[in-house]
Amino acid sequence: MMRQYELVDRVKAYNPNCDEALLDRAYIYAMKAHGTQKRASGAPYFSHPLEVAAILTDLRLDDATIVAAVLHDTVEDTESTVDDIDRLFGTEIASLVDGLTKIKKLDFVSKKATQGENFRKLLLAVAEDVRVLLVKLADRLHNMRTLHFVPPAKRVRIAEETLDIYAPLAGRMGMQDMREELEDLAFQNIKPDAYGTIRERLERLTSANSGLISEIESVLQARLAERGISAMVKGRRKQPYSVWKKMERKSVSFEQLSDVFGFRVIVDSLDDCYRALGIVHTAWPMVPGRYKDYISTPKQNDYRSIHTTVIGPGHQRAELQIRTRAMDRVAEFGIAAHALYKDGVDPDRRPLDDTAAYRWLRHTIDLLAENDNPEEFLEHTKLELFHDQVFCFTPKGLLIALPRGATPIDFAYAVHTKVGNTAVGCKVNGRIAPLLSELQNGDEVEIIRSEGQTPPSAWEALVVTGKARAAIRRATRAAVRRQYAGLGRQIVERAFERAGRAFSEEALKAALPRLARTSVEDVLAATGRGEMFSGDVVRAVYPDYLDEKKPAPKQAPAGKGWFGLKKGSHMKFRLPGDENPDAIPIRGLNGDLPVTLAPEGGAVPGDRIVGILNPGEGITIYPIQSSALAAYENEPDRWLDVRWDMEAIGVQRFPAKIQLKSINEPGTLAQITHVIAEHGGNIDNISMARRTPDFTDMTIDLAVWDLKHLNAIIAQLRGKSVVSKIERFIG
Ligand code: MN
Repeated sequence: MMRQYELVDRVKAYNPNCDEALLDRAYIYAMKAHGTQKRASGAPYFSHPLEVAAILTDLRLDDATIVAAVLHDTVEDTESTVDDIDRLFGTEIASLVDGLTKIKKLDFVSKKATQGENFRKLLLAVAEDVRVLLVKLADRLHNMRTLHFVPPAKRVRIAEETLDIYAPLAGRMGMQDMREELEDLAFQNIKPDAYGTIRERLERLTSANSGLISEIESVLQARLAERGISAMVKGRRKQPYSVWKKMERKSVSFEQLSDVFGFRVIVDSLDDCYRALGIVHTAWPMVPGRYKDYISTPKQNDYRSIHTTVIGPGHQRAELQIRTRAMDRVAEFGIAAHALYKDGVDPDRRPLDDTAAYRWLRHTIDLLAENDNPEEFLEHTKLELFHDQVFCFTPKGLLIALPRGATPIDFAYAVHTKVGNTAVGCKVNGRIAPLLSELQNGDEVEIIRSEGQTPPSAWEALVVTGKARAAIRRATRAAVRRQYAGLGRQIVERAFERAGRAFSEEALKAALPRLARTSVEDVLAATGRGEMFSGDVVRAVYPDYLDEKKPAPKQAPAGKGWFGLKKGSHMKFRLPGDENPDAIPIRGLNGDLPVTLAPEGGAVPGDRIVGILNPGEGITIYPIQSSALAAYENEPDRWLDVRWDMEAIGVQRFPAKIQLKSINEPGTLAQITHVIAEHGGNIDNISMARRTPDFTDMTIDLAVWDLKHLNAIIAQLRGKSVVSKIERFIG
């Protein structure tokens, strides 16, 4: 276990002005507090907070963070309280420990429902001081390093959580080394076999090529030195997890050294980075498509470096990362490399809130407020955590950073939710482009908007940013709700009419408490969805109203019952031609009502129709002669009187089915399809069953404009000699 003076020495090594006495007190306090507690490994518990503190000294963090690390488990696991810490170590340290205690109480991997909620709490605890996150990550890293002492069943859970949340968070905070180690330890526990195989192969490749690696290092270094650039070149083996990910992504095996080794070229100045790049590209052929300049456009976690791949010494592909010492430090320490100090040890560190990683964190925390569903939030944040960035511009030159794979729709929502909701088209670099194309670095994007637009719900699955997804989902929900409220209004108004009572929104508003609803729209939407009966709405406004029976469909003239319904059915309908002007007008399938057609032999415009209200799904339309209607006989509340609004039906086709018996002779099918095509019908499907040597039965799925169109096609087919029998099929 680390001694008291060893911890102090570690801090002193990078911070000569550290508060030794404070560190000593924390050491002794935590040691006493944890007393004889043991870890799963059997080691004294106190060794854990010390190791966490040691990880943070590698990141060269300030006294308060180191002390908070030493104390991080005292409040949750011992008798200590936050007040004790406050009294003994001051408010700054106490609030760090408090934040860590709040996170410790979360068990990420319980039910899925609470995983999102916990992630939210983690971010909220971190919101007050990003150092809480740094200690938490170090805590997780040490727990992962000692995971083999934990029972196997629990191990995979913890490893998955690490891979899902903590490793990407470390990466997003720019701490690459920590991210890689977390990923690797998680991988080792989740897929031990794959890990073992890759690791063994990596080791074999490394030892077989050790000469080559040092040759590449020294040739590169010498070539740069010749041109006056002092550079440190270091070969670095990739981790099993990153090799695995690459194999999965590109579904290839790894064979070449370049898949396994990367070289870092560390130079003195920004200028030297580009000069070194020039020299490397002149000396060796570059591999096209591999050059990336993260110096001019840094990654969202502040990472800056030039990447390129060349066919280098020994005709080996070599991946190079060229950067300055300062950039290298950010690449390694990330957000921890910035001004966490008040001690002024390192004057050229940037203020923390000036870093992109910190801004991302703030932005993500801000998004919490907009998102009321923690599971959705977690899902979106996870998506963003894993994506690389592309950088695009508005026509006015504003930089918009987006995850790789983002579309102009994501761009529009990143600019403003309103821009996204009203987007109908876009120009990329001055040319009209599809809203669903993938944006590239440097694209200038102009969004074409139209007010009164609702984003199609299908977009939700096609965008990659959480913000766009959440906004599309919200807009879709609102639109669906408006549809149901519109339907509900028609149902309610007609119910009032039937009852001979006046409908007014004011009266309904006054009756809201009786319906246990909070707004008129709420009542209308619930009625439209079929969750509330219109008769109950009438009664809420006029409590004296007794509906003699539940609102039943109108009676047909005496003696004229409808075929298609079971014998003795009490359902009666008006006859064709007997149009009811009160019926709810159906404006086709893309209109303002949530309408679907019955799947088997549905209705086409011109058919007499009945609507059945399906709670949560809207209206299903049946032709009045459909036998499927018998199933709803005992649910009069679900029947709606509907009619086609023929004038409002736009240009759209409706599915219909015909059944026919044809004579078996060459060319029969061709004749039938020819007749249908000639009359403008679309054939969606034909199924055939040969019943006898002479005749074939077929069912043809058509798409037609309306009943007249369908009847015309049937009449033409009936006139053909190869058709012996034909009729429309209604399920
Ligand atoms: Mn801990």
